[in-house]
Amino acid sequence: MNSSDQDFWNRVRERLKASVGDDIFNSWFARMELEALEGDTLRLSVPTRFLKSWVQSHYADKLLACWQEEVSTVARIELTVRSAVLKPLPPKAKAPEVVAPANDKREIKTGIEMPRAAAPISAVHDALGGSPLDPRLSFESFVVGRSNTLAHAAAKQVAQGRRGDQVMFNPLYIHAGVGLGKTHLLQSIAWAGNATAERKVLYLTAEKFMYGFVAALRAQNALAFKEALRAIDVLVIDDLQFLQGKNTQAEFCHTLNALIDSGRQVVIAADRPPSELETLDERVRSRLAGGLVVEMGSLGEELRFEILKARVGAAKAHHPGFDVPSAVLIYIAKTVTHNGRDLEGALNRLLAHSKLTGQPVTLEMAEREIRDLIRPQEPKRIKIEEIQRIVARQYNVSRADLLSSRRTANVVRPRQVAMYLAKLLTLRSLPEIGRRFGGRDHTTVLHAVRKIENLVNNDTSLAEEIEILKRQLQD
Ligand code: ADP
Ligand code: MG
Repeated sequence: MNSSDQDFWNRVRERLKASVGDDIFNSWFARMELEALEGDTLRLSVPTRFLKSWVQSHYADKLLACWQEEVSTVARIELTVRSAVLKPLPPKAKAPEVVAPANDKREIKTGIEMPRAAAPISAVHDALGGSPLDPRLSFESFVVGRSNTLAHAAAKQVAQGRRGDQVMFNPLYIHAGVGLGKTHLLQSIAWAGNATAERKVLYLTAEKFMYGFVAALRAQNALAFKEALRAIDVLVIDDLQFLQGKNTQAEFCHTLNALIDSGRQVVIAADRPPSELETLDERVRSRLAGGLVVEMGSLGEELRFEILKARVGAAKAHHPGFDVPSAVLIYIAKTVTHNGRDLEGALNRLLAHSKLTGQPVTLEMAEREIRDLIRPQEPKRIKIEEIQRIVARQYNVSRADLLSSRRTANVVRPRQVAMYLAKLLTLRSLPEIGRRFGGRDHTTVLHAVRKIENLVNNDTSLAEEIEILKRQLQD
């Protein structure tokens, strides 16, 4: 914005003032500022949302008209709320610059640095379009717990093999849900193999495998590609569930057979067991299932805590001031339960926040920063009204009937059931429940609760009815 724009704005202000009067001007326009005049679009800002909507609905035409008298080319006015425009970006929006996500290596890394692959592998690795390896995903940084002991041991075993060794299990097939450490383990194998240069380990995502083949076939050097592929000792394929296409599958099948038959190691990860890879041909599935199939379970709380602790330790190497009290680690381990990615995300938030604000990490800050990563664990809050509505519908009476003083049997039983459910499913006290049922005494509620409790034990059809009601209320 140049000074002549500002001059225009000053003159427009005078016009406005003359047109609407000082009072109105002071109320609605005094704090309006010119942000920019770009082409036919004029950007103005006000300090509050309320001002914005008021000006928009009451003075938009007048404002535009006043501007057009000064600058005839203005065709559009964009009104923004200033605090949102001018404030520096909040820490969260900046986080990605500060801390790179696992699969994306940008400036700052939180994890342990390991030297990149030694030369011997890289030619093959590159020629075959080997997927990039994340130096943080190594055995050193992998935390072993109950859910992954077997998978870890098998991966270690594979990684320690030497050229010409008898292969113990082939393929090694690891499956687990998202974020439970499959990629971490597979890349650990690749790093370990490459570090000793003892064997050529090729790590490929299923996608890379597909594109590698497609590209090679297009370039008509499929033969060379296969030759190169056969030159490797360990083939590691991640996310096999993404393997698609008849040709790709056929090639995958050949490769798998060729490697296994010639005693080379194959390691596979997928989000499901071989038998559930529906898109794959039955023969491939059984070949995959013919080695060692290991499942990794979800991360237990203890393991989550250990992973967090290790991560903080690693992050400290790069960010010496970064310190997370164990109360905060315990809090995250308890509340962020989904998977390893969310744990990492949670720590990245804390790191970004502490770097950007220079403030120490506290429990309070953690609670604020990671709120949205916490899966709501507590059961749904059930309202008494809701119980009354559902019960009334079930027994074909009205909600008013339940609250009334009527004592006919067709109303008494549903009313008792509703009171019983209110006691069972809410935290309301007996007197409170009594009040909500047309101002009844708490002894009446207690009587109803006992009555239904007794009946449920002896009357299976009532017990069933109540189960159905409960289910309706709970989901
Ligand atoms: P997957 O490939 O199964 O979806 P990843 O291997 O990408 O999961 O793991 C997700 C995140 O959790 C990564 O940052 C990874 O380092 C971390 N993680 C998972 N399990 C462990 C573990 N046992 N020890 C250390 N970090 C782990
Ligand atoms: Mg993965």
